[in-house]
Amino acid sequence: MGYDAIVVGVGGMGSAALWQLARKGYRALGLERFDIPHAHGSSHGVSRIIRLPYYEAPDYVPLLRRAYELWREIEAATGQELLVVTGSIDAGPADGALFRGALASAELHDLDHEVLTGREVNARFPGYALDPDACAVFQPQGGLLASERAIVAHTLAAQSLGAVVRARERVLGWDARPGGDGVVVRTDKGRYEAHTLILAAGAWMAELAPALAGRAVPERQVLAWLQPHRPALFARDRFPVFNLDVPEGRFYGFPVYEVPGFKFGRYHHREEAVAPDDPRREPDAEDERLLRAFAERYFPNGSGPTMALRSCLFTNTPDEHFVIDRYPDLPQVLLASPCSGHGYKFCSVVGEILAELATGDRRTRHDIDFLRLDRPAMQAS
Ligand SMILES: Cc1cc2nc3c(=O)[nH]c(=O)nc-3n(C[C@H](O)[C@H](O)[C@H](O)COP(=O)(O)OP(=O)(O)OC[C@H]3O[C@@H](n4cnc5c(N)ncnc54)[C@H](O)[C@@H]3O)c2cc1C
Repeated sequence: MGYDAIVVGVGGMGSAALWQLARKGYRALGLERFDIPHAHGSSHGVSRIIRLPYYEAPDYVPLLRRAYELWREIEAATGQELLVVTGSIDAGPADGALFRGALASAELHDLDHEVLTGREVNARFPGYALDPDACAVFQPQGGLLASERAIVAHTLAAQSLGAVVRARERVLGWDARPGGDGVVVRTDKGRYEAHTLILAAGAWMAELAPALAGRAVPERQVLAWLQPHRPALFARDRFPVFNLDVPEGRFYGFPVYEVPGFKFGRYHHREEAVAPDDPRREPDAEDERLLRAFAERYFPNGSGPTMALRSCLFTNTPDEHFVIDRYPDLPQVLLASPCSGHGYKFCSVVGEILAELATGDRRTRHDIDFLRLDRPAMQAS
């Protein structure tokens, strides 16, 4: 067997898995069809939010606590700044799922937090202009991750420990080896064998994992960077990352970081399911109009000239929770499809989970039962 584990996709999740495998002393091969990093998948656009009071479900909070530790470990291993703490705001109507969910997670897991009105948020962080009656959870540990740099950091750290990484090599298919142990992976350049296969192919997961067909659906997103009229209000020490539930939809945003402009986006942007190889990459005037209207209403000091617009891909499951599990009837094949628009912050801990499931007694210390492939929501047609 050539390798202990082959990781398909050296993006956010795959690069973290490679590092964790290499740290454990396992022979790992990463196969990536594009460059490392690149701008065709789900992890580009400079930054991603990390936040603890998880409104999507409190089950994620223990994973997040470990994710924070592991983000600090890869920073220490590489000497790079990857996690910037800004605080986080989760705001919306008092009876809305976002505010209530964030508060429930904060209370259940005893997270440091404050409940603020929109008026109080605007006074404390004057880049914001929320509805004064909105309700917000402020959590001081929230922040942003340098997502593209973290892929590079994980890859370099894995390589320094012996992992082999091959970019511009597309996986065409895979099979269980006859006899049931291990896998054979076919690419456009060769053929490889390993004890374990980790599929971390992002928006292409359903192509490589028929068990996810129709249940891991790529969706086009667009991010905007607008130059603030008052840049000081959008600096990383004065502007917490946010998730905001408003009549126009659910939006998220960041302070200015590394490139010009206040960055933000709308979840499920224009609700466009796409083929991952043909996602209509170039943003258009309607993309810009939708995003600019949001900034003018809720962040008027952040709505100056456009600095950048970029498209990106979500991969949505029916219930918008991740799938991290073994392939049905093939325990040597692992599925890592943690996206639905909120997965990046978990890369560090997902890497650890995958490495644990791939090696030793093939168990993980983490509770990921709620991310099983056979949960009822994933069975719906
Ligand atoms: C606009 C936008 C905003 C987001 N905001 C946040 C946020 O603020 N916070 C957060 O936590 N999450 C956020 N997310 C979600 C998060 O970015 C994703 O969950 C995460 O990037 C998914 O990582 P991944 O490794 O699964 O995918 P990717 O990083 O895309 O990696 C998958 C890799 O597999 C490769 N690949 C695919 N097929 C093959 C093949 N056949 N052979 C070889 N390689 C292959 C791809 O080229 C790619 O490099 C956001 C997503 C988007 C699009």
